[in-house]
Amino acid sequence: MKIHEYQARELFKAHDIPVNHGEVAYTPAEAKAIAAKIGKMTVVKAQVHVGGRGKAGGVKLAKTPDEAFEKAEAIIGMDIKGLTVDRVLVVDAVDIKEEYYLGFTVNRDDNKLVLILSAAGGVDIEEVAATTPEKIMTVNIDPMTGLQDYQIRQAIYGSGVDTTKARALGSFIKKLYNCCIAVDAELAEINPLVITAQGDVIAIDAKINIDDSALVRQKDLAEWREIGADLDQYEKLAKEEGLTYVHLPGGNIGVCGNGAGLVMTTMDVVKKAGGSPNNFLDFGGSATKEGVMKGLNAILRDPDVQGIFINVFGGITRTDVVAAGIVEAYDELPRQVPIVIRLTGTREEIAREILDNCNKPLVFAGSMWEGAQKIVELVNAGAANA
Ligand code: GDP
Ligand code: MN
Repeated sequence: MKIHEYQARELFKAHDIPVNHGEVAYTPAEAKAIAAKIGKMTVVKAQVHVGGRGKAGGVKLAKTPDEAFEKAEAIIGMDIKGLTVDRVLVVDAVDIKEEYYLGFTVNRDDNKLVLILSAAGGVDIEEVAATTPEKIMTVNIDPMTGLQDYQIRQAIYGSGVDTTKARALGSFIKKLYNCCIAVDAELAEINPLVITAQGDVIAIDAKINIDDSALVRQKDLAEWREIGADLDQYEKLAKEEGLTYVHLPGGNIGVCGNGAGLVMTTMDVVKKAGGSPNNFLDFGGSATKEGVMKGLNAILRDPDVQGIFINVFGGITRTDVVAAGIVEAYDELPRQVPIVIRLTGTREEIAREILDNCNKPLVFAGSMWEGAQKIVELVNAGAANA
């Protein structure tokens, strides 16, 4: 479960983790009142369940309360990665000297929490991770012993941070770890953790994801759950249509099939074939023509989709009926992109004939691997021609 920055800050305060002063506002007038109370320069920050707000224009400095009003007015209602901002956090602006990255998350390879510390924090941390991973120090934590002091020193002295601040940083790291364990976080991240011009160590961003399975014992936190708040515009529309759809922004291959396990595997296989899946869509156990067409329409809403891989395990479903249905309805789709269809089950030979002879960019695939390679090839060829 994702929570907002202002909520994560409450958890930080409860664990004695230093944060700058701030309050949440739902209207520009409220933002102005908070800024007036703070009485100096403030930062107005979009509160949405997604990162990268700074780069998206969702974090703005305000010199006066009137400016806080204007910035809040600009940010509330803004779209950030498909999510609409409905509230802002107004905080006391901090004079930043250094921006670090500090986080705890689950290392799924080792089944342990991992401490991550880097002196190269800030809005470009993804770039740092991709190009200079040696600037990011990681230390695995044994769940039986918990975070040890020597591990904290390892992280501080191995990460390039200002070691004259070792004591303050060490205490900070320990508190964040305790908070992480206490709230059953699967991610607790501070980016940036800053050293201010005055030499203080404080968190000016706060991100915590709570383990869904722990909500039975984190009853207070469960109240922060906002059903639907994490859905983007495509996911919202799909949900209204009763579809099981998850969007992966940035991908260019639509993926769908009948059965959640089958579709997840298909996404992995597309990836393995060198492609980039744009979504997960399960159109349920029985693949009917109507169900398939509804799914294809939903997938094609994202203009990034340049091809679709349909993976249907027919079983007793008549695959020839499904194939004929897709051929018949293809021209009615909002856009005509290449579609590879893997069909197995009753009458698959007839399904193959129908697709082979349809004179449309509909390709039959006999296996999942063959289909994945084919759609990647078609989409790449399309991109090369464009
Ligand atoms: P994110 O982009 O969603 O991670 O939002 P952040 O809360 O990390 O804010 C983005 C960036 O805005 C930070 O990396 C800082 O560079 C800047 N920023 C945020 N708060 C302050 C502040 O109080 N003072 C200054 N000078 N910059 C800030
Ligand atoms: Mn941040």
